[in-house]
Amino acid sequence: MSAIGVAVEDLKLLTRSISEDLGQSRSDWVFYCYLNQGQNNSEHLKTVFELLFIMAVGKKKSLDSRVLFSSTKLGILTKCPRNYKYMYIDHIKVPTFFVLAFGIAMHRMLELFYTTNFKSEDSFAGFFARYWNDIKYDKNKRIGFVKVPNEDSRPYIFGHYKRLGEAILRNFYKRDIPRRDKFFAEKNEALRNARLLSAKAKKKKEFLSGLGLFPRVETKFQLEFDGHRIRGNIDRIDRFKDGIVFFDYKTDKHKSTSNDLMVLKNPNHQFTIYDLALKNLFPEYDLVGRYLLHLRSLAKDAAANPLIPVFKNAVDFNSLSISLKNAQDIVDRKAFDRNVGYHCRFCSYYEPCSRDVMEEYVSFPDPVFGSLVETEEELNNLEESIESYWGTDLVESDS
Ligand code: SF4
Repeated sequence: MSAIGVAVEDLKLLTRSISEDLGQSRSDWVFYCYLNQGQNNSEHLKTVFELLFIMAVGKKKSLDSRVLFSSTKLGILTKCPRNYKYMYIDHIKVPTFFVLAFGIAMHRMLELFYTTNFKSEDSFAGFFARYWNDIKYDKNKRIGFVKVPNEDSRPYIFGHYKRLGEAILRNFYKRDIPRRDKFFAEKNEALRNARLLSAKAKKKKEFLSGLGLFPRVETKFQLEFDGHRIRGNIDRIDRFKDGIVFFDYKTDKHKSTSNDLMVLKNPNHQFTIYDLALKNLFPEYDLVGRYLLHLRSLAKDAAANPLIPVFKNAVDFNSLSISLKNAQDIVDRKAFDRNVGYHCRFCSYYEPCSRDVMEEYVSFPDPVFGSLVETEEELNNLEESIESYWGTDLVESDS
């Protein structure tokens, strides 16, 4: 029983049914509860509504009825609205694809690079090896169980990514250590100058961001654009002589070109949204560059150039505006249709979706998972198929 004497299962059922009914995010159904409190005759439900409202206010959740979009949400809604429903409305838990788990692990390591004083490339790569090992044995709470094509392939796949991750991180360390040391020196100097503050106050994120130091890593933001709400997380923002620049880390197998990233070829709004965020977060600086940092370029050579410049113009902002409108419309109409195709074989929701499909008598592609993967060529083929549909980093904190 919960604190108010309501069975926890009842609470879960209630929240699930409201969520389905509204077809909106969690904060939206909390708002719905608020609107409906007092209109329901059942004392039991009233109490639950009140509790949910208190939870919403207590956690400072937004009571805005619009969807809080992100580039990941927009991408998923465009590719398959049913996938969006499984992920963001039904909150169906599924194992994490091995490709995505690797992307998450690398992002975490590159965040740590600017927050932890790794003394050598060995200690940096060694930290990753232990972290990756925890993921392999399902000891990482955030990533959870990692899905591989076949359990017998697990040692090969994890070994492959361990070597790849270590190679990338060693060369990243060599490449970026002068920048990191400069940042640490500036930070230490600022901390010495603020010696009157307590140690606790100095550790606070607001204090550090108030120092105006760069780079900033994993910067969260929320903004309004064209009547829509958007949030996201920028991997790294750095300041140079002429202004600020942002970087998005990618673990993709293939290195895109600037041309590939134009909106007409790739309707992914991530960089356009970051443009808006930078203008909001740092209006005092000019935005002078956006780069995709292709991590696998560093796997063999620390001197390789991993940066791909990205260009944005009015067409991108128009396209974002249209996508947001369409996305909100799909959610409002609860039009979570399936987009069935070959790509379903590489969808994280293949199992729940195929189960539902059997009930609806829709034809569905056969599963691809189950086959053994134990050579580089087999792994390459699989990675390419997954990436071609889902990319490598559905990792934004936007669940
Ligand atoms: S399996 Fe296919 S139809 Fe089902 S959610 Fe995934 S992409 Fe959509």
